[in-house]
Amino acid sequence: IGPRGPLAMSRLLIRGGRVVNDDLSQVTDVLVEDGVVRALGRDLLPPEGAPTGLRVIDAAGKLVLPGGIDTHTHLQFPFMGSRSVDDFHQGTKAALAGGTTMIIDFAIPQKGGSLLEAFETWRSWADPKVCCDYSLHVAVTWWSDQVKEEMKILARDKGVNSFKMFMAYRDLYMVGDKELYAAFSQCKKIGAIAQVHAENGDLIAEEAKKMLALGITGPEGHELCRPEAVEAEATLRAITIASAVNCPLYVVHVMSKSAAKVIADARRDGKVVYGEPIAAGLGTDGTHYWNKEWHHAAHYVMGPPLRPDPSTPGFLMNLLANDDLTTTGTDNCTFNTCQKALGKDDFTKIPNGVNGVEDRMSVIWEKGVHSGKMDENRFVAVTSTNAAKIFNLYPRKGRIAVGSDADIVIWDPKATRTISAKTHHQAVDFNIFEGMVCHGVPLVTISRGKMVYEAGVLNVTAGEGKFIPRKPFAEYVYQRIQQRDQTCTPVPVEREPYKGEVSKLKPRDSTVGTRKQDHP
Ligand SMILES: [Zn+2]
Repeated sequence: IGPRGPLAMSRLLIRGGRVVNDDLSQVTDVLVEDGVVRALGRDLLPPEGAPTGLRVIDAAGKLVLPGGIDTHTHLQFPFMGSRSVDDFHQGTKAALAGGTTMIIDFAIPQKGGSLLEAFETWRSWADPKVCCDYSLHVAVTWWSDQVKEEMKILARDKGVNSFKMFMAYRDLYMVGDKELYAAFSQCKKIGAIAQVHAENGDLIAEEAKKMLALGITGPEGHELCRPEAVEAEATLRAITIASAVNCPLYVVHVMSKSAAKVIADARRDGKVVYGEPIAAGLGTDGTHYWNKEWHHAAHYVMGPPLRPDPSTPGFLMNLLANDDLTTTGTDNCTFNTCQKALGKDDFTKIPNGVNGVEDRMSVIWEKGVHSGKMDENRFVAVTSTNAAKIFNLYPRKGRIAVGSDADIVIWDPKATRTISAKTHHQAVDFNIFEGMVCHGVPLVTISRGKMVYEAGVLNVTAGEGKFIPRKPFAEYVYQRIQQRDQTCTPVPVEREPYKGEVSKLKPRDSTVGTRKQDHP
């Protein structure tokens, strides 16, 4: 079989690059066969040259990284009277062009709807279209015995080990503290990690009415009705409830300094909690809500909002660099200007969501590594390894090691590119990072051993990606939780029983709970 035959697709040798994992960097060759890493070592190429069917890629002077894992996307999501324009095809193509080889999206049932049905619906949308591997979190938007049972089935049989609860979007997705307690308890029982969208939804709904009454109808109203404290309060509440039931907690899209501090403090208190900043929050800020162009301002609307405090992105990056925050997603949920315009007269009707699935790796390299805040190993940790560990994909994903999936990016740390809606692969007609010059450019993206992106050209087929099931009880998360159950569960104090008199109110003296005429 010649170099263009099937074998050419299945055997690759990446030569002379600097292979970067979260704990070690070393110059070594990587041999890929049948979609997995077969060997690592120096001079894997025999002296007589490449055998037939082996494609050799020269990576000298370049970095060889595990492909990115985007922990948070909403592709073709029906939401707020519209549907996000990056679907599972375009969205995963864009991911690959940016060096991301796996996404985790959300199956979200309506209140009263079946979780299993939502899961199957999202599978039916994604499976024929995805160009990279993917997995699904499932949302718990209401509570009943059915929901509880379906969570168990999803964890046991369907490969779902993470469930997201919304503390915002009142009347649509929001659940209260009692439901959170029940959902967290069930997550704990079935070995899943609980995720929260942490904002006080009741407060937002009331404050939004106030803004509209004040005549504030533009995108700035979106931030004004849900300032930082609204996010920080819910974050602390979720941590308090999760801690009470000893359930691991993952806070999605940490957007503010105060919410990030709540998470950092909780981690220092020993809580099992993880915070996920997103590319938008690390790369730009909420001053855009005051932009004079309505469409410009509207394109930044997402919940929780970007913060107008311009020191926020740098602060979040510092915490990400120093392990107060753990993973990175994008909340990629894109709407074109004409869709955003559903809220042209009322900011509460602007479909929430921003881009980032293509931009995340470069934005984090630029703001994190190029700035000197984190090294290349920490970059790998926060863009793939930590996510793989938390969501139980490790070391199949998030690591370049023998036996791991060959999801690999050849990365040029010195090259630059300018992010623009004119050149990006995302379907949306706007880019919140427009004009940002990023060091750190993916030269080649390899998905399960196939070169899917090279020199700016995508070579993908819809449906080539696979659904990756995830087993419950991820050790990285649950080892501590289970140990605490054994050692930290309170027991009754042993003491001498009280044997004296017990004073009791006699029914005829009582005015509580009885009516006078019953006891004349
Ligand atoms: Zn989201």
